[in-house]
Amino acid sequence: MKVLLVSPEVSPLSKTGGLGDVAGALPQALRQVGVDARVLCPLYGFIDPEPLGKTRQAGSIRLRIGGAARRAKVIETKLPATDVPLYLLQHKRSFDRKGIYSDANGDFTDNDERFLLLAQSALALPSAINWTPDVLHLHDWTVALTPACLNALPSGDARRQWASVLTIHNLMHQGVFPKTVLDKSELPHEFYNANGLEHNGCLNMLKGGIHHATKITTVSPTYSREIQEEPFAHGLQKSLKHRAADLIGIINGIDCAQWDPNTDRSLIRNYSIPDVEVGKTACKKDLLETLGLPQEEKRPLFFVVSRLDQQKGLDLLANVLPKLISDHDAAFALLGSGDPLLESTYKSISRENPDRVAAVIGFDEKLARKLFAGGDFLVVPSRFEPCGLTQLYAMRYGTIPVVRETGGLADTVTPWRPGKRSATGIVYEGMGEWELFLALEQALKVYRSQKTFSALRRNGMQRDSSWEPSAKYYAKTYSWAVEQRLKTIREEEDLKP
Ligand code: ADP
Repeated sequence: MKVLLVSPEVSPLSKTGGLGDVAGALPQALRQVGVDARVLCPLYGFIDPEPLGKTRQAGSIRLRIGGAARRAKVIETKLPATDVPLYLLQHKRSFDRKGIYSDANGDFTDNDERFLLLAQSALALPSAINWTPDVLHLHDWTVALTPACLNALPSGDARRQWASVLTIHNLMHQGVFPKTVLDKSELPHEFYNANGLEHNGCLNMLKGGIHHATKITTVSPTYSREIQEEPFAHGLQKSLKHRAADLIGIINGIDCAQWDPNTDRSLIRNYSIPDVEVGKTACKKDLLETLGLPQEEKRPLFFVVSRLDQQKGLDLLANVLPKLISDHDAAFALLGSGDPLLESTYKSISRENPDRVAAVIGFDEKLARKLFAGGDFLVVPSRFEPCGLTQLYAMRYGTIPVVRETGGLADTVTPWRPGKRSATGIVYEGMGEWELFLALEQALKVYRSQKTFSALRRNGMQRDSSWEPSAKYYAKTYSWAVEQRLKTIREEEDLKP
């Protein structure tokens, strides 16, 4: 099985969130289960050429966006420290920038054209590199028009046989543009309808993908059910229900080699299950020093590593945090960036409580790793969470997640209840601040019972969050998609006069 994964971000080269991690780790796991998985991603201006090692120009691609010719180079290399072939799309005008989707001034105004270029390149790359895929695996809205582009190919074109799998990492981001973008895409006008690319009078790239892809996956079983209802469907409920038979939830894994407290170079001391207590205490001391918090390592430390976005429920946490630290002997640290209002809210809580609260605004993977190792409780109060990776990293590093029961959080954290031996974290229901506050108090109760705390910690570290089972599930999904695509093509042939 030959599969081209197409993604706007791929870790460790480019990453704004979980999508980058998945695009970096899944292809390695797929190759280990026998899939010839390769990756196509843009060559952004900020990508450090250093870890890339040997690169070569493998070919070039000619496309038309809005009637104008575009030529992009294909740079072939390997995903750092792996054997995964990586094709970097070099088009300086589109991608030689400091951000993936935006910069300090907001979203790039030409994101429609930039990502049409990437979406169309998925069809053009294989002949440029002399390799024919069975499946195009598209990730999120930026490349969600690729299945429509496949369906628009003339019937004699051999590429029509390629199946397409669209993975939805976050339904909130849909790629909504004015109808005029249809002309830039050069897709047939009949694709622009309520069962296709049109939504509320605009062109909706993700909706187009949902209607045109052979199979659709999303990143957890619970989220795959949630998105068939509002408000989780973000307006696309009808489309998702229509495709329900082809919609599959596959839980994300993590790269267990890259995220291993026993080898992580960001940590002052490495550890594994037998020496977790000693290891985490050393890491906590180092973390408190880095954060400028007092060396009170017995004080429970809650923390967040997140994009600061309405989705993540961090406004709710900001409202209960002052009460948590006034009622209890607890400390808190935030690492995140995004919404300026949330950034300033957390900064001001930290200014008012310098001995208890630290707020670091920015994106810093080394500090994130120190937090996973040195913190006691990761808090994830998301309103919705397609999968979530931070709770997986936390458990792997012996940190207990406190999460809302939604999406992948519900699928990956086993809730603590008195007497439940397999628990890995605190899971709470309800959207309100009060429920969150009670969950944080429950975490403190667990902290006070050395035996329970230690059991949850160890259970989390023992959890298998590796990619292998999910990679096998993707491999099966690719086979189903190929079968279904060939059947569709045969039926089309039979209908020909
Ligand atoms: P999402 O994809 O919605 O942002 P996930 O939990 O799936 O959420 O993935 C987030 C990824 O981004 C994790 O790897 C997390 O550690 C990382 N991350 C988020 N914010 C930061 C930050 N400020 N600094 C470093 N890493 C971050």
